[in-house]
Amino acid sequence: MEYISTRGRAAPVSFSEVLLGRLAGDGGLWMPARWPRIGDMGGKSYEEAAVHLLASFVGDCCGIDDLGADVRAAYAPFDVPQIAPLVELERGLYLLELFHGPTLAFKDIAMQLLARLAARELERRNARATILVATSGDTGSAAISAFGGLPRIQIVVLHPRGRISDVQRRQMTTAPHANVHNVALEGTFDDAQALVKSLFSDRDFADAMSLVAVNSINLVRILAQSVYYFTALAKLGGPARFVVPTGNFGDIFAGEAAQRMGAPISGLVAATNANDNLVRALRDGAYAVRGTQATLSPSMDIQIASNFERALYEASGRDSIWLATAMEHFATERTLAIPRLVREALTSRYLARTISDAETLATIGDAFRRWGRLLDPHTAVGVSAALGLVSTTGAATIVVATAHPAKFPETVTHATAVVPPLPARLRHSYVGRERMTVLPPDIGRLRSLVEARTSPHER
Ligand SMILES: *Cc1c(COP(=O)(O)O)cnc(C)c1O
Repeated sequence: MEYISTRGRAAPVSFSEVLLGRLAGDGGLWMPARWPRIGDMGGKSYEEAAVHLLASFVGDCCGIDDLGADVRAAYAPFDVPQIAPLVELERGLYLLELFHGPTLAFKDIAMQLLARLAARELERRNARATILVATSGDTGSAAISAFGGLPRIQIVVLHPRGRISDVQRRQMTTAPHANVHNVALEGTFDDAQALVKSLFSDRDFADAMSLVAVNSINLVRILAQSVYYFTALAKLGGPARFVVPTGNFGDIFAGEAAQRMGAPISGLVAATNANDNLVRALRDGAYAVRGTQATLSPSMDIQIASNFERALYEASGRDSIWLATAMEHFATERTLAIPRLVREALTSRYLARTISDAETLATIGDAFRRWGRLLDPHTAVGVSAALGLVSTTGAATIVVATAHPAKFPETVTHATAVVPPLPARLRHSYVGRERMTVLPPDIGRLRSLVEARTSPHER
């Protein structure tokens, strides 16, 4: 399989380049040259399903035995054998629980695997790398958990200071590994993301530091996430609509990817908090950025949903000439007009719903009373959207549960008067000394920090 850029002006690359986070020189995102057809996953374990799906993508990067070993190692730290269990809430309504990994959010599912594949590839190349990532909370802890302590790798994580939960912060800052460096940035997630993007787009610097991107624009994460759409449907034994709490549009695009690979998905619903420019884009045909608002679901406090570019690419019939022009306009003007045909293609696949903080709290309370279940605020955004949908087809609805309630105890306790317990195996974690550097949103300061932290062996 070759990988091509959404903007059409970069030479195609192999899987290992995509894996190690090489950015397309034309500013676009990598996509597989075509979507393979993946058969039914019925009867396969989660690990077998992952190997079966990813085997179509990894090319000559690793053999099937190595892939199998990495998949098994990635999912060994999960606390349930199903990895992503499907739980019935009431007739026709299900939760797909993706929070059974080491940091209690769905990002572990892709990151644990990405880390193993990347470490294997660095070993093969006898190379080193520095991972640089901006986080709205969960990506950073998933990356630190996956890459902390791995040889050949340094990891620098920026989070927006004071805008993530205490559990999220402690999961990152108490990591004991010498290769982990946390930056508390004085700004929003979008500020942090913009700084990271500009260091990556300085090609000389990115090459000298061997920078690797592991945020959700890394296609390997999306491919790894498309596995659970297949396994959930196999478990259900029929088609379903998925409701996905959405920030950067990565998780829900993994649903589109699964659909394009043949999964019987009857619809995809993006559930957002007040940062709802996706909802307005589908409704009005204009994708426009406003200021980011802080909400009870901080991992979705994102205005620029990087992976929306992938959906636009597919919806335009892979028209990279239009997309390149539109994205360049968006970069300077902060607004993008979606042509009618592209919008129709998007709305035939996606619905989008905005859920307020008040609705999120009410849903957490209702879910506890109705089903005796504690929902984290991100999952509650999804459940709230699902309860507001009318089913025309009678198909089941699966809400993607993206985080464990214990990750956001303040909000859950506020809504239910119950303190969500940390899973037993994590009860003694996150209590060590916190290590982080506070930085203003200044590119020069960040550049120096990355230079200082990048392993001296590599320069
Ligand atoms: C990252 C995250 C999301 C949003 O996922 P995207 O792929 O960015 O759309 C939702 N919920 C939680 C808990 C997250 O960590």
